[in-house]
Amino acid sequence: MGKFVYLDHNATTPTERRVVAAMTPYFNKLYGNPSSIYKFAQEAQEAKEVARVKVAKILDAKPEEIIFTSSGTETDNFAIKGIAYANKERGNHIITSKIEHLAVLNTCKWIEKQGFKVTYIGVDKYGVVDLDELKDAITDKTILITIMHANNEVGTIEPIREISKFAKERGIYMHTDAVQTVGKIPTDVNELGVDLLSLSGHKFYGPKGVGALFIRKRTKIDSLLHSGHHERNRRAGTENVPGIVGIGKACEIAIKEREEEEKKLKILRDRLQKGIEEKIDDVIINGHPKKRLSGTLNVCIKYIEGESMLLNLDFEGIAASSGSACTSGTLEPSHVLLALGIPPEVAHGSLRFSLGRDNTEEDIDRVTEVLPPIVKKLRAMTPFGKGRENGLRWNNQKK
Ligand code: PLP
Repeated sequence: MGKFVYLDHNATTPTERRVVAAMTPYFNKLYGNPSSIYKFAQEAQEAKEVARVKVAKILDAKPEEIIFTSSGTETDNFAIKGIAYANKERGNHIITSKIEHLAVLNTCKWIEKQGFKVTYIGVDKYGVVDLDELKDAITDKTILITIMHANNEVGTIEPIREISKFAKERGIYMHTDAVQTVGKIPTDVNELGVDLLSLSGHKFYGPKGVGALFIRKRTKIDSLLHSGHHERNRRAGTENVPGIVGIGKACEIAIKEREEEEKKLKILRDRLQKGIEEKIDDVIINGHPKKRLSGTLNVCIKYIEGESMLLNLDFEGIAASSGSACTSGTLEPSHVLLALGIPPEVAHGSLRFSLGRDNTEEDIDRVTEVLPPIVKKLRAMTPFGKGRENGLRWNNQKK
C-alpha cells in the first residue's frame, strides 16, 4: 500500500498545525471560565472576543452578530427553531430545498410535527434550486427561507443573493447553511443578503465541536439552550474557549490563504475529473459544471455500488466517501442525487472526492491509477452490469 491519501475534506479536515498551536494554551494554562471575574479568567474571555472579531471578519459581519455554538448541526437547529418559535405569531411556514444537509432537513421534519408547515423546493439537474418554484411557494405565512450556500455532496453553489432579495422584499428571514463554504469561497453576509448564516470549525481546518451562527442585528430569534447569560443571552453554557480560539484562528488563516487555495484545488480537482473520465466508461459527473466548490468532485460510476468502490479504495489507502458522511452506511441512495433526477440504481454508484490543503498531484494520480482496475474488477463481478440492465435492479432487490 502506498501513502495514505485523504480525499474526504467535506466530511472533515485535519485541525491545522497553526490552529492547534493557538488553541493549546487554553486547555491547561489559560483555562479560566470566561464568566468568572478575576483577571486570570478574563484572559480566556478576551481570547474568546478576539476570536469573535476574526469570525465576524470572514463574514463581513459585526462581532456582536456572532454567536458561538457546538457544531454546524446545532447552528442549523438554532437558526430554524429559533426563528420559527420567535415569529410564530406572524406565520408558520418555512421554505427549504430538497438537497439540504440532514441538519436542516431533519430539523424541518421535526418542526412540521410541532405544527409548522415546510415546503421543500426542487433543484435542476445540476442541483441549483428552482427560483420560480421558490417564489411561487412564498405565502403570507412564510417566516423563513433556509437554503444552503453550497451542497456538501455535489458542491453546487446556490444563488443565495437572488433568493435573499425575494425574501427581503417580502419581509421573510433568510438563513443559509454555509458550513461547506466558509473558508472556501467568499461568504460576505452583506453580499449574500442573509439574516442568518451557519458555519462549523472542522470543515475548514478548525477543530471539531465548535460552530457559529451569524444573526443580523434586530433579528427576532429564540434560544435553544437556557441557563446563564452566556453569548449575550442567546446560547447558554460555559464556552468551549479552546474551540472558539481555534475557529477564530482558522478564519484568520482562511482570510489570507483562501483565494490561492481555491485555485490550487480547482487544478487538482479538474485533473482528477479528467483522469476518471478518460480512463473509465459510463461515468456521470454530478453538480454544476462551473458553479461548484473547487475541491469537490462527485461522480456516478454506472453498474457498481459506491460502497464496494470505497472499501476497495480504502484497501489501497485512499479515503473518499459515497454521498455524505452522515448518510453513507444507510445503503439508501443519496437524497441529493435523487433530487438531481439521477435514477436510484445509478445514484448507488456515487463517489465523492473532496480535496484539501495538503493534497498533491501525486495523490490525484494515485486515484486515477488505482480506481480503473477496481471498477473493472467490480463490474466483472456484478450481476447488474452493462448489458444486463434487464436483470434485477438494486432498488427492487433491497426491499
Ligand atoms: N451542514 C452541512 C452542509 C454540512 O456539510 C455539515 C457536515 O457535514 C453540517 C451542516 C453539520 O456540521 P457539523 O458536523 O459541524 O455538525
